Amino acid sequence: MYIDSHCHLNHNRLLNIGGPDQVIANANAAGVDGMLSICCRISDEFPQILDLVSDRKNIWCTIATHPHEASDPAEKAVTQSDLVAMAKSHPKIIGIGESGLDYFYEHATREDQQDSFRKHLRACIETNLPVVVHARDADDDIIRIIREEGAGTNLTGVMHCFSSSRKMGEEALECGFYISFSGIVTFNKSQELRDFARDVPLDRILIETDAPYLAPEPFRGKINEPALVVHTARAVADTHKISAKDLAAKSRENFFRLFPRALDTFIADGEAA
Ligand SMILES: [Zn+2]
Repeated sequence: MYIDSHCHLNHNRLLNIGGPDQVIANANAAGVDGMLSICCRISDEFPQILDLVSDRKNIWCTIATHPHEASDPAEKAVTQSDLVAMAKSHPKIIGIGESGLDYFYEHATREDQQDSFRKHLRACIETNLPVVVHARDADDDIIRIIREEGAGTNLTGVMHCFSSSRKMGEEALECGFYISFSGIVTFNKSQELRDFARDVPLDRILIETDAPYLAPEPFRGKINEPALVVHTARAVADTHKISAKDLAAKSRENFFRLFPRALDTFIADGEAA
């Protein structure tokens, strides 16, 4: 059974393919029995996400401000202690994210993004929750800030939708972080990424869709959904010369090791929600 470690189940685009319940049913039918729905805005989106995940079986969520939103006054108004209190408020909240830095789009100023990233990392250390990191054209600052904030602490997390340089990936592994591969790893042009995936230890790999974005081959360009994570699993499994099933089992173990709070509300097959 597969776990999609990063998707956006409340995203409007999923309404075009039946909405969250249909998408979750499709995923379960494809052997995907766990999903982590990622928060991008605390001030307005978070309550909707929590509502969506709270009574659905093996669906969890995170809480944070996406780097694109870091200059928004309502997001900046959320203090570290607010964030810590919210993160502890429900057992289905199992991580802090989507955090990180994006200097490619730069929808928010670099200063606001860095402040927000540090606030998230400090909240992780305080709550013992892992961070979900979005990195684009900001590799050096991401690693520097993780090292500065994380030194001597229990800080851990995942580089989501990994498509950065090998150097950055290796540094993230050195920091104890996990690497999550998305549909990008299935794209024809992604040979360098597959070469890196082959060298990531099997006990540090997660798989994700980032649905509704980035559908894997052979569905590239369509609306993505968690059911399609099986295609990403196969591409990563091929690099390690193991079966997709074995890769699914490994990445599942990794998911629960990184997000142990998910086990508190995990419901095994056959049990009622
Ligand atoms: Zn995302």
